[in-house]
Amino acid sequence: MNILVINCGSSSLKYQLINSDTEQWIAKGLCERIGIDGSQIVYQKAGGDKEVTVSPMPDHTEAIRLVLEALTNDKTGAIGSLSEIDAVGHRVVHGGEKFSSSTVITPEVIEAIKECNDLAPLHNPANLIGIDACAKLMPGVPMVAVFDTAFHQTMPAEAYMYGLPYSYYEKYKIRRYGFHGTSHSFVSKKMAEDMGKKPEDLKLIICHLGNGASVSAVKNGKCVDTSMGLTPLEGLIMGTRSGDIDPAIMEFIAHKENKSIDEVMTLLNKKSGVYGLSGDLSSDFRDLEDAYNKGNEKAIIAVKTFSYRVAKYVGAYTAAMNGVDGIAFTAGVGENCGLVRKLVCEYLGYLGVKLDDAANSKRGEDTVISTPDSKVCVMFIPTNEELAIARETLALTK
Ligand code: ADP
Repeated sequence: MNILVINCGSSSLKYQLINSDTEQWIAKGLCERIGIDGSQIVYQKAGGDKEVTVSPMPDHTEAIRLVLEALTNDKTGAIGSLSEIDAVGHRVVHGGEKFSSSTVITPEVIEAIKECNDLAPLHNPANLIGIDACAKLMPGVPMVAVFDTAFHQTMPAEAYMYGLPYSYYEKYKIRRYGFHGTSHSFVSKKMAEDMGKKPEDLKLIICHLGNGASVSAVKNGKCVDTSMGLTPLEGLIMGTRSGDIDPAIMEFIAHKENKSIDEVMTLLNKKSGVYGLSGDLSSDFRDLEDAYNKGNEKAIIAVKTFSYRVAKYVGAYTAAMNGVDGIAFTAGVGENCGLVRKLVCEYLGYLGVKLDDAANSKRGEDTVISTPDSKVCVMFIPTNEELAIARETLALTK
């Protein structure tokens, strides 16, 4: 089967066409600046070069029309016609408490996703526009929604409740949900497989460290805690997000800088994290690592503070699970930045973690980076959210 995976953001759209038999992508790309001047589509067929075409995209329907046109293009297309797309898998950011697993999209499911819009006002509406556009352009093709929050729905109440009046949970569903669930699920299963064990027999900690970053505790194959909360702002220090702070800082900054609540939120989401900590040097760990190695003080603080926060969550989740058998690093920073992995693992000697420096300097596929006598297995494992979405879509539509 050919499965089209769609990840719709507010002004962008990532897509991948995946052959579910080989689990390889046959074409992929992204549309950028949807609804903004200068929109363009990037398209790449397996084995081919990236093609960039500037084309107006007033809305997501036009973006998806251009994706389908690129996929079926006479010269460079990956498939002969749209009938070769058997199903579509959509990434949906927030499934609230309604969705604890992926689901085939029906009119009722669309209504239920709309009811979660309040919880993710920037993301869910964009995801719904993508679903609507595909339904219009590919009528009759089955579609599946795969939620970022679903994997974390197994968290117990003591992990997901905030210390706020209970009525806010009842009235507004204010609680911790967690995100990156597709990645945490994929990597935890992969780690169990790599360790030659069943997920049911393991206590794993997954550190998804990308531009957005989160940690999860996965006990016996089920998520029992994760670091993001009602929104992706909670938890780790990220590329540009602050992660955990004293909530009173918001009022303090608002008064001192004469900012509105919206402006403070923008500051915490877009100007903070390692970007802000490094004195606006960069949110990208390639730049930060360079500056760290050159002795740039703010870059050193940014990288060390980031790593320390990860190590604190690993400690907390070891306590939550009463032990840990494996720790996996994934996503852009987790897969590529040996420096961060080393700094995190330096805090974990008390768990019996021993890092193999030569293995830690490697790149590529799943790699064990702990020594054979380390009490905890530590690995880096490339995540593949698109493949995970394609697998879920296949399972629900074949
Ligand atoms: P997201 O999906 O959240 O945008 P990714 O998982 O793609 O994020 O991670 C992107 C980040 O990964 C970059 O901002 C950069 O910090 C980091 N990264 C990517 N490649 C490298 C590398 N070779 N070395 C260090 N960091 C890297």
